[in-house]
Order: sequence, then structure tokens, then C-alpha cells
Amino acid sequence: MKALVKTAKGVGHIEYTDFPEPEPGPGQVKIRVKACGICGTDLHIQHDSFPNFPPVVMGHEFSGVIESLGPGAKGVAVGQRVVSEVLYDTCRECRACKTGYDNLCLTRRGLGWAANGAFATFTVVDADRVHPIPDTLSFEEAALAEPLACCVCAVCELTQVTAGDVVLVSGPGPMGLLTVQCALAEGGYVVVTGIASDALRLQLALDLGAHEVLNVQTEDVVGRLRELTGGLGADVVFECSGAAAAARTGLQAARKGGKYSQVGLFGRPVELELDQVVLKELRLYGTFSSNWRGWDRGLRLAAQRRVRLRPIVSHIFPLPEWEKAFELASSGQGLKILLVPAE
Ligand SMILES: [Zn+2]
Ligand SMILES: [Zn+2]
Repeated sequence: MKALVKTAKGVGHIEYTDFPEPEPGPGQVKIRVKACGICGTDLHIQHDSFPNFPPVVMGHEFSGVIESLGPGAKGVAVGQRVVSEVLYDTCRECRACKTGYDNLCLTRRGLGWAANGAFATFTVVDADRVHPIPDTLSFEEAALAEPLACCVCAVCELTQVTAGDVVLVSGPGPMGLLTVQCALAEGGYVVVTGIASDALRLQLALDLGAHEVLNVQTEDVVGRLRELTGGLGADVVFECSGAAAAARTGLQAARKGGKYSQVGLFGRPVELELDQVVLKELRLYGTFSSNWRGWDRGLRLAAQRRVRLRPIVSHIFPLPEWEKAFELASSGQGLKILLVPAE
């Protein structure tokens, strides 16, 4: 089969090439990939600023149809439309696994950087990681189930937004726009920030229900959040851009006793004023990947149309045109870009 492969460590080394077709082992399923999104993580793997173990098929945000079952695979059927969690080789015995945080398992590998992923005709996953796609969702929408699950884990599971909270979301990219919708579903008053080149993305944030948008280059973000909260500041901050300046503003914008949640990856060490955490008794959160609860709740939110996924897909390219698609993704233009493998 054809696949997009990280062939060696270092910057670049990505090739669209022949790769052995995977077959499902015991308890696994083989999935014919219908669509797979380009994630910020894929760009970090391209630039070698995220762990990766070549040779490895990239891609982890996908939807597809079950092609065949390995021995003993339960609860799944050939022909079923599915998405899959991205965890591989979790031990299922450690404290993290047993308490439902298997995204933090020490032995875990991730699809698309440590285990072969879904920028390919086929991929193989454990049957119990698979979730059926609700009938009302297309393959294109369902390909966003993975980033949505991450945002649900960040917003609804870990950081938690309560009705009436004033919420700041910085960075109106795909993760930001999913975070916005999760925070809205939880009852937050949501303010989204971006830069001038984010104008279309900020407009989309408003279309998706955000209450206010601000351009950080021309507007006083911290001042506006204080204005909205009787001088206090944001109850909850989600930093989704991975830009140091946005993180610094977020720490300033959070109220005393508020919460700050880092969703975006910086890919490098950055300088932040952590005294803000001390002086304001901020609660600081990080979220990594996702767990079953995030997938379950995320798919329900999408099926209920309380989170809208299709507006976040800006481009769809055939997989062989991956280079053009990666360039577009790196440029910061567009939103979620999907790659579709050849039949
Ligand atoms: Zn991702
Ligand atoms: Zn474990």
C-alpha cells in the first residue's frame, strides 16, 4: 500500500512511498482509511520537535471503515464506520491505565509517531479503541473526533468550565475552535483572541457561537477581560496557540484563583512569568492526548450538533499531494486540512 512515512530522525525525511500493508493481530481490526487530518503534531514531527520513531507511518486523526478483524476482536464488525483512539501498547495494568488515564501510561505509544498511523490506505488498531461513527456524521467530520476528544479532555474533564465562567481561548486554529465549542457547551462566556491574519478564523469563532473576539495586536485583552468580570479577570484560560506571547497574556488575564490550561505545544522552552501562578494562586493544567471518556463525550457532542465539525475542515487533498497540504498547514492559513488516501 501507499503511505506517508517519516523515514529517518531529523528535520524532514517524510516520503509518500510503498509500505507493507498491515494485518490485524489478535484483538485488532484493520481499517480502510477514508480521511485523516493534519495535526500540529505532524508539523512538529516534520521539524523533529516532537518525539518520533522512524520508520513510522504518520497520521492519527482519522476515520474509516473496518476492512477485516483479527482473531478474537470483539464488539466490532466488518463494514462498520469507525474512528479510533490513538493509544498503542498501553500496559492496562499501571495506575494510569487502571484509573482511566491510559493516555499517561508509561509504556504507551502513540499512533502516527511511535506506532504506524493513518496517512495510508490501511491502518491497524486494537478493537477496544474503536468507536462507531454516529450516523449523522460524515467521514470528513469524524476525522476530527481525535482533536475533539483532546479538547473535551482539556475543557470538560480536566480543567472544567462551569456555567457563567468567563473563558479566554487564545489561538483560533482547529484546536482553539473545538475548545471554544466545548467551553460553550459547558455554559461559558467565551472570548477568543488571535492576530490580524486570524481574521477569518475569528469570524468563524463568532459563527460557531463565541461571544467576543479580540485582535491581540490592536486590542487590550487583559483590560477587556477585567471589564467583563468586575476587574477580576478570566475564570478560565485555554492557551491553544503554542505561542509564548499568548501564554504570557493568558497568565496575566487569568483572575486570582483562576485556572490556566495549556493546550497548544510550543515545541521549545519558552519564558513565562510563573510568579503569576504564585501571586494569583492559579491552578495550572496541561492535557496530553485523550482517553475513552473524551472520545465518548466528544462523539456525543458532535452527534448532538453542539460541537460543529464541518466548518473547521478548510481543505481536502489527495494523500499524494501531502507536501502542498503540509505547506498550507504550516502557513497558518486555512484550518483543518484532511488528506484522503487513494482507493
Ligand atoms: Zn492531533
Ligand atoms: Zn499503563
